[in-house]
Amino acid sequence: MVKLAGDYLRLSAEDVYEGITRAKVELGRELLILGHHYQGDEVIRFADYRGDSLELCRAAAAATHAKYVVFCGVDFMAESAAMLCGSAQEVFLPAETARCPMAAMADVADARKAWEHLTSVWCGDVVPVTYQNSSAELKAFCGRHGGVVCTSSNARAVMEWGLTEKGHVLFFADEHLGRNSALGVGVSGEDIAVWNPERRDPPEGLGGYKVVVWNGYCHVHTFFTVDQVARAREMYPQASVIVHPECPAEVVASADGNGSTSFIVKAVEDAPTGSTLVIGTEVKLVSRLAREHPEKTVVPLAHSACDAMSQVTQYKLLYTLEGVLEGRMENIVQVPEEIAGSANRALERMLEVT
Ligand code: SF4
Repeated sequence: MVKLAGDYLRLSAEDVYEGITRAKVELGRELLILGHHYQGDEVIRFADYRGDSLELCRAAAAATHAKYVVFCGVDFMAESAAMLCGSAQEVFLPAETARCPMAAMADVADARKAWEHLTSVWCGDVVPVTYQNSSAELKAFCGRHGGVVCTSSNARAVMEWGLTEKGHVLFFADEHLGRNSALGVGVSGEDIAVWNPERRDPPEGLGGYKVVVWNGYCHVHTFFTVDQVARAREMYPQASVIVHPECPAEVVASADGNGSTSFIVKAVEDAPTGSTLVIGTEVKLVSRLAREHPEKTVVPLAHSACDAMSQVTQYKLLYTLEGVLEGRMENIVQVPEEIAGSANRALERMLEVT
């Protein structure tokens, strides 16, 4: 009898574990399971690679033996992997509802309006930069206009390059990463403006700014506050507070360090035994780091979880893998060629720049 997606929810945890393990053995080197750091333990335990979005996309492209790449993450990550993978590889996202809300905040039609206004006030001297957490269409838009993609690891370097090239940067889609990167390369807060696509008319005087940041945000990281940092310092006076650069600038300024998820993982790994770290990022990663490093105290700055990441469950992973075995190929992620071509130009430019 054909099993439907809902039938999988009735399976016991042992059946799911056995089913995924069996599928992995049967598919062998033809299968690659990628797990983003923000995935829950029930899923990430099956991942062949764990990492941040760029690391995982690179792993997918490098694993040319893998015909089936199952990306346990969110939509924009699987899209990027699909663009970087070869034509003999298929990329799957086990949950079609795993959509990053921040990536959805920057729509290409709105982006075009901002671009037209700012190229006019800056006389064409502007580089569009988009965070990796954006749609393939927006990456393609940036690629077509001499722009570039960045990640949370290299956003500062990309910002610096854009300012050196043209003197101005239009940054999509995360206001906070854009502002933190600009401040980090010496741009004054007074030279940074925010673009709100819901405003009918652009604000006056944008020509006097150096950087305009889109007003998108990640709710997981804007949840963190300066008060939480102050309370953590009272509770753990010896602790290092480390946050993600998608946090608001005042939170980043009040922390001891900030960086991408890979930076945070390494900071915990490299901390001496007995040290205490308070981490401001997605709580599933922080909890895992605490379990994996019992010789250190690792605590979350606050409990902040990403629902989009939690859409991928072990049941949906099993459903996807059994689909591959049965020839029922569901949840394949594909990007039209003309979009992938332009988006890849923006990704390649990032690799050249950084
Ligand atoms: Fe999007 Fe934030 Fe979730 Fe990452 S953590 S997928 S940026 S909502």
